Amino acid sequence: MGNSNEMTIIFDSRPENEGLARVAAAAFCTQLNPTLEEVADLKTAVSEAVTNCIIHGYQGEVHKIRMKCVRKERTIYLDIEDDGIGIADVEKAMEPLYTTVGGERAGLGFAVMQSFMDSVKVTSQVGKGTCVHMSKKIGN
Ligand code: ATP
Ligand code: MG
Repeated sequence: MGNSNEMTIIFDSRPENEGLARVAAAAFCTQLNPTLEEVADLKTAVSEAVTNCIIHGYQGEVHKIRMKCVRKERTIYLDIEDDGIGIADVEKAMEPLYTTVGGERAGLGFAVMQSFMDSVKVTSQVGKGTCVHMSKKIGN
């Protein structure tokens, strides 16, 4: 096994592609012989990030989402990015229970990502898009 490995996929922001992104990230991480729990954690975090791109970033319009998966040593790095509306106040958006879509949304997506990954960082520019950078060490 080399010291690093990398993959990027680009897909339409359609709800049916959320499963594709989950499985692609899971397949990428099998090179580290993860436990079922570690795979499930990664998939859950990917789901939340991709759903946010679809619902919030593009507000239901169909545009491209990019997911970059990198392995360095035993750590998986995921960048999930849209070119959508962006987030004005990232710190506030990441607070548990904060949501701009009342009703069916709980405002827990970022909290879920943070609980299942070792680190979650968000970079965003209003009108340009949002990137969620996450990492998780496998076999911790
Ligand atoms: P839940 O994930 O529980 O269904 P939610 O999506 O509102 O609810 P979070 O995932 O924590 O909660 O996101 C919080 C808020 O951050 C969202 O309501 C939205 O305003 C903003 N946000 C998150 N991701 C994006 C994105 N990719 N583009 C634009 N805004 C975003
Ligand atoms: Mg969400």
